[in-house]
Amino acid sequence: MSPDTKRKFVVVSHTHWDREWYQPFESFRARLVRMMDALIDLFERDPGFKHFVLDGQTVPLDDYLEIRPDRRETIERLVKEGRLRIGPNYMLPDEFLIGAEATIRNLMTGIRSAREYGRLMNVGYSPDAFGHIAHLPSVLRGFGIDSVLIWRGVGREVDVSEFRWQAPDGSEVMAVHFPYGYGYMATVPEDEATLRNHLQNVRSSLEPFATTSNVLVPNGTDHLPAHTGLSQVIARANKIMNDAEMVHGTYEEFIAAVRGELRGRYNELPLLRGEFRSSARSNVLAGVLSTRMWLKQRYVQCEDLLARYAEPLVAWAHLISKPDAERVASDKGLLHQAWKLLLQNGPHDSVTGCSVDAVYDDVGLRFEKCEQIAESLIGEAHGTLGRAAAPKLSETIVVFNPEAGPRTDFCTVQMPVEGGRLPTAFVEDTGVELPVQALRRGVHSPRDARERVVVGFVAPLVPAYGYKTFTVSYDERPDASHGGESSIENEYFHVSAQPDGRLIVVDKASHRTMHGLNRFQDSGEAGDEYTYNPPLRDEVIDAPKNPPQIRITETGPARWTLEVRQVYSLPARLTPDRKGRSDDRLDCAITSRVRLYPGVRRIDVETDVDNRCEDHRLRVLFPSGLSSERSYAEQHFGVVQRPAAPIKHDASWFETPANTHPQKTFVDLTNGQSGLMIANRGLPEYEILREDDGTSTVALTLLRCVSWLSREDLRTRNGHAGPMMYTPGAQMIGRWTFEYSIIPHEGDWQAFYQEAHRFNRPLRAIRIPGGAGELPREKPLLRLDGEGIALSTLKPAEDDDATVVRVYNISDHPGSAIISLREPISEVEAVDLNEENAGPVVVQGGAVRLDLAPNQIATFRFLPRK
Ligand SMILES: [Zn+2]
Repeated sequence: MSPDTKRKFVVVSHTHWDREWYQPFESFRARLVRMMDALIDLFERDPGFKHFVLDGQTVPLDDYLEIRPDRRETIERLVKEGRLRIGPNYMLPDEFLIGAEATIRNLMTGIRSAREYGRLMNVGYSPDAFGHIAHLPSVLRGFGIDSVLIWRGVGREVDVSEFRWQAPDGSEVMAVHFPYGYGYMATVPEDEATLRNHLQNVRSSLEPFATTSNVLVPNGTDHLPAHTGLSQVIARANKIMNDAEMVHGTYEEFIAAVRGELRGRYNELPLLRGEFRSSARSNVLAGVLSTRMWLKQRYVQCEDLLARYAEPLVAWAHLISKPDAERVASDKGLLHQAWKLLLQNGPHDSVTGCSVDAVYDDVGLRFEKCEQIAESLIGEAHGTLGRAAAPKLSETIVVFNPEAGPRTDFCTVQMPVEGGRLPTAFVEDTGVELPVQALRRGVHSPRDARERVVVGFVAPLVPAYGYKTFTVSYDERPDASHGGESSIENEYFHVSAQPDGRLIVVDKASHRTMHGLNRFQDSGEAGDEYTYNPPLRDEVIDAPKNPPQIRITETGPARWTLEVRQVYSLPARLTPDRKGRSDDRLDCAITSRVRLYPGVRRIDVETDVDNRCEDHRLRVLFPSGLSSERSYAEQHFGVVQRPAAPIKHDASWFETPANTHPQKTFVDLTNGQSGLMIANRGLPEYEILREDDGTSTVALTLLRCVSWLSREDLRTRNGHAGPMMYTPGAQMIGRWTFEYSIIPHEGDWQAFYQEAHRFNRPLRAIRIPGGAGELPREKPLLRLDGEGIALSTLKPAEDDDATVVRVYNISDHPGSAIISLREPISEVEAVDLNEENAGPVVVQGGAVRLDLAPNQIATFRFLPRK
């Protein structure tokens, strides 16, 4: 700031609108309606009240107009005039807990909605998220947004408000950090003495962080209405200060002013890379990764249902059946509705689990509705594809693979039991017979009384992002089942259980033996929905009360199952003073079904827990036997390395840093030669524990059980993170099932991440009694070649009848990709994340060829041949 530049305080009026939190959605909406009514009134009465930011999200406007559809015109006028600032998000998510595609769809939905209302706030905005993902700058850049306002998780690595933030692919945005949060000027001083005082506070606390003459003063906080009288306060402030000016502005104006003043000095701003999860200056509330774990499981399941099954199958059905425009529009409308329902579960007080119990009735219902729409679309589209591919007059199983291939994996399908007969084999086009294993009989469809059976089989070499057909055989043949007495094995692994129930895994290729896997560890929890807080006198229980029952329950031919049934005697709750665990004990049954399949390089585990106890944390441990300095955890478009050692901190930190971290489908440890990957389905919290011998153990959280939204007696956090409300639903009493997979491997994660993706997105089969035989017996929809190149989505285009393919480079080195759609196309173009701004691509031999930086995202539109 040059000496003649006058200090400028840019006051930005806003509200922070948690759609549901310490009240359920409809209660907060009743307040939203009052807030919006008052805001419109204020805009009309006071021309000096220039702007109001509706929290960087558009869903509150939809919520308001559902109640007041008559005010649409007024709202659109205010938006077009730039007085009401909306978007670019649809909602304000927990960045770590929603998935990669949801991160994109949230911005796509918000930006498109804001434009429909009349004008978009073209600034990234994530004011209250509990830390920030490393990939946010690349997603924002993908929508043409070059700045973002953030708060939590930025540590002491920076002491200015403005800095450059770079994603792993090199994308960069200007970050504006709120040093004291988004609620700095939550009230406006009425009288002159208070105002003078307030101005002094603003100057002494915010000015030191400024990189230019401009200082951002956010005016507003949680669920607060706009301040009447603000324009008069600003006028009065300008009379008091003679060396500075205060204006009523917007985030866009503030960012433009900072950029304008910095000009050539912009590159002198500090450059920060990667994620923000520091507890030094703000609460990042890392305990939300494990609060109400069922939410995380349902969330992941629903996002995959949409992005990896419904959208590619609907896109493929459109390509082969060429439905009329009305049908296409209806399918897209249904997909949009399912995505909106899922996105409404993504806010940082929803999927996180840190709200009152009543909120989760709504959240659960949205998951149900999202799944109902997704399953309807999947059923129809898979049927369309299946009937076109299945030969005439033969009963056929059509298997869809949403992942890379060719892929050999276990698959289940439900079939009618015809005249008491069960299928004995599924037959490949080449005549090879695949044995079928009945898994569950006595299943009845709600539509009729016919008995059905769920059968399992290993489908070999299913094409990448494609299908393969098998005909059903009922020939009698000797039972091909076999299995050991107390162990299971396939060509890759031999798995047995120690007498204490822990697993011993032998990796046959490397002759490495791993002991003590799948060990359960239970400890006390005196925290709240936001934060883990072990009781002062903790008691850790990591062995069952009696020797477990170990038996082989399935002996092939498609699946072998080793079952370990254990009963843990756990403290019923905390002691009344919350400093220890109670002497009362309750039995909690924990049953693991450990599974191998022929030809599959994973050890899948399904664990049932009958949770009868309160105030505890249950984790499952996997000693790697390896010394690993770092963990490698999958995040949105790549893998984040984090030190395996606990985070060092001192008493000045805002909260005690958690050593639990977020992950997507896997976390991996490696010593360079050997590694251990633990894949999970919707279990996002892990910690790396250091054993006495220097080796590392992966701890995967299954349950973290608490009764309070927020408490102020935690040793791991200063003060409250929300109101103190009773939330017994967060104790997760009941029976729960958790799914994870043990993947021992050579080298590092880069050659094995596909196993974690496959574990999360199983093959999906449908039975077709007789089809048209128009398509080949097997076919990929997409060719996607390139080491480390992964698919993010394949979907019908938003704006026309093109097919959109989005890929990214998951690896930490540059990669090359070859991409082609295996249906007739006329043209292909590269587009941004909003499927706009089409540019040329390099096409050779009918395939797109491109180079991708580590974690770079690329989106293409394939236009159909007319
Ligand atoms: Zn919030």
